[in-house]
Amino acid sequence: MAVSRESKNCMTETADIVVVGGGCIGAAIALPLAEKCAGKILLLEQKDIANGASGKGIGIICTHYTHPTLAKLAYQSLQRFQHFAEHYGGQESGFNPCGYYVLVSEADVETLSSLVNQHQSFGINTGLVDLQQVKAAIPIANISDVAAAAYEPDSGYGDPLQTTRAFAQRAIELGVEVRIHTPVTAIRLDIEGRIEAVVTPQGAIATRTVVDCVGAWARQFTAAVDLPFPVTPVVEHVVLVERSSEFDTESSASHPVISDLVNLCYLRSAAHHPYTCIGNSDPRYHAQFCLDTANQFEGQLFPDICETLHQKLVHRMPSLATSPVIQTYWHLGSHTRLSADYRSPGTSTWFILCDRL
Ligand SMILES: Cc1cc2nc3c(=O)[nH]c(=O)nc-3n(C[C@H](O)[C@H](O)[C@H](O)COP(=O)(O)OP(=O)(O)OC[C@H]3O[C@@H](n4cnc5c(N)ncnc54)[C@H](O)[C@@H]3O)c2cc1C
Repeated sequence: MAVSRESKNCMTETADIVVVGGGCIGAAIALPLAEKCAGKILLLEQKDIANGASGKGIGIICTHYTHPTLAKLAYQSLQRFQHFAEHYGGQESGFNPCGYYVLVSEADVETLSSLVNQHQSFGINTGLVDLQQVKAAIPIANISDVAAAAYEPDSGYGDPLQTTRAFAQRAIELGVEVRIHTPVTAIRLDIEGRIEAVVTPQGAIATRTVVDCVGAWARQFTAAVDLPFPVTPVVEHVVLVERSSEFDTESSASHPVISDLVNLCYLRSAAHHPYTCIGNSDPRYHAQFCLDTANQFEGQLFPDICETLHQKLVHRMPSLATSPVIQTYWHLGSHTRLSADYRSPGTSTWFILCDRL
């Protein structure tokens, strides 16, 4: 990525808004821009749609966030997922509202209770539940170390790939031009330091507005225009196990999502296969999986975390100890310590959207 302050007059193409990054965020931003008829909108993706985290996410959709702004945003998102095709007028997103349990140990009972109260005050359908209810809903779960639980009946999981494609397809129908295999290699500024163009291998495109939706690539992308945006690329791991049918009673065949805050992991089943997958939510591990830049990601796997995740799965669902591991996969996500309402310093033309806060 390079930045140039030289003014060039050889640009023939112009766009009112250039959205950079064809993940779920870029596609979800391009669509309402098109709905509002914001002029000529280009969505530029360096590889294919959902090439980044959006193609590999576990897709858990819930409202249990500690930051109140995130909880409110998640609640609005959940409502969109509930009526996705109806709201956007395109395809379905693949949302499965199978329910979502949060499990905590003794140390976190008070925090859980106050968060649930806060979320209820936002209108979110959530509540503390009896541990017997957890056991009845997920008979294969061992809850001996669980002190309290909350339940969101409307939450569940989605299909990140299908969701991203649905957003992109609808955006195209409404006039957005989506160009894949079109990396933005530089951002050109005019002599006053305002954005003048984005540069791609096919040529420069004159624009005053760029929407940065490059996810884990954000640090290198914004560094090019001297914006300190500390997004850290992190390799996220997932382990997928096939449940034997002998453990699948009707009620546990497709169990609800579990956010296991006792062992810092999350689990979900799949709609059409007897699979349970597990991902990591323990931030202590993230330091090991951080990369300096997203371009350093060449599919590297950290095998120890897969073993740890498998152990956590077996701890929570002991009857799966002998179930075959169908797949372990890993992909690039990102984390930042910025607050949800971060604004880039000294400029009003940059909108920066990022992964997990
Ligand atoms: C294994 C895993 C599990 C996850 N599980 C969950 C979950 O259960 N629930 C949840 O809510 N979230 C989950 N996430 C996080 C979620 O997937 C991400 O928050 C979300 O997909 C981010 O979308 P995005 O569009 O910001 O980024 P991305 O999907 O990464 O999209 C960024 C895009 O920008 C493109 N790009 C980068 N640089 C350029 C450039 N210079 N020019 C053009 N294009 C460029 C990339 O190719 C990429 O396609 C998970 C993530 C992973 C990896």
